[in-house]
Amino acid sequence: MRNLFDIQGRFALVVGASSGIGEEFALTLAEQGANVAIAARRVQRIEALKEKIEGFGVKCVAVPCDVTSEESIVNCVKTVVETFGRIDILCNNAGIDIFGDFLTYTTEDWDKSINTDIRGMFITSREVAKVMKEQNYGRIINTASIGGRFASAGNCAYYAAKGAVINFTRALCADLAPYNITANAIAPGVIDTELTHDSFELDFAKQSIARLPLKRVGKTSDLSGILLYFASDASSYCTGQYLIVDGGGTCLL
Ligand code: NDP
Repeated sequence: MRNLFDIQGRFALVVGASSGIGEEFALTLAEQGANVAIAARRVQRIEALKEKIEGFGVKCVAVPCDVTSEESIVNCVKTVVETFGRIDILCNNAGIDIFGDFLTYTTEDWDKSINTDIRGMFITSREVAKVMKEQNYGRIINTASIGGRFASAGNCAYYAAKGAVINFTRALCADLAPYNITANAIAPGVIDTELTHDSFELDFAKQSIARLPLKRVGKTSDLSGILLYFASDASSYCTGQYLIVDGGGTCLL
């Protein structure tokens, strides 16, 4: 039987792989037979994840990377190419979320968010696209958010950055299609990770979760199917798109 979602033997790079959604992405790709490079700042976390990934019988390299530093990204991509020889799949997943009242939101927090959530994605995509162009093949998967489509008070930089991720994905589609590179984004709703877990106790969060059609927060594994769709040839004619995975929350009036 044909497996449309086959990624066995492919080479992937997951940036922002040390916890939460990125960790799950790396494990999912490895479980499906892809070799996976994992990058983030917390070296101990990616070293521990490397062992788990190798447990699936695939190759893994853990590379320290800070996406706010161009030099760090360039070195990371160089290391991955030296180790793997190619990069078929790139997951741009690094992200931070700095809450704050708009009137007192600091320029420093704005810059930190933008540098991590969108500037880093641009530099990583550019460096990896050079490799993918030579291969005439690539799949780029950007982690956006429902906060890239909608906004509420107290998180202006995150919403700005995630909105940019969605339109940047369209730009990648246009710029990279000639090299058989697709780019798509996953826009999760509320997923239980270190980034969000503490907020679930807030009254506002409890009310929001109760309003979700599926009546629960998402698990990181709820994103695995979409990841495999965008990472594999099942999505070969799909590029420049984003897909919301949010338990139906954004469908409601
Ligand atoms: P986590 O905090 O668990 O993961 C964030 C990841 O980003 C970590 O691996 C972290 O690694 C990495 N990261 C942060 N800053 C940098 C940096 N400067 N350089 C390299 N890596 C960095 O949160 P989530 O798993 O929840 O978030 C993952 C992505 O999903 C983010 O882009 C987030 O915006 C998005 N998202 C999450 C949602 C949710 O509900 N959880 C909803 C919608 C979108 P390290 O600190 O080791 O560098």
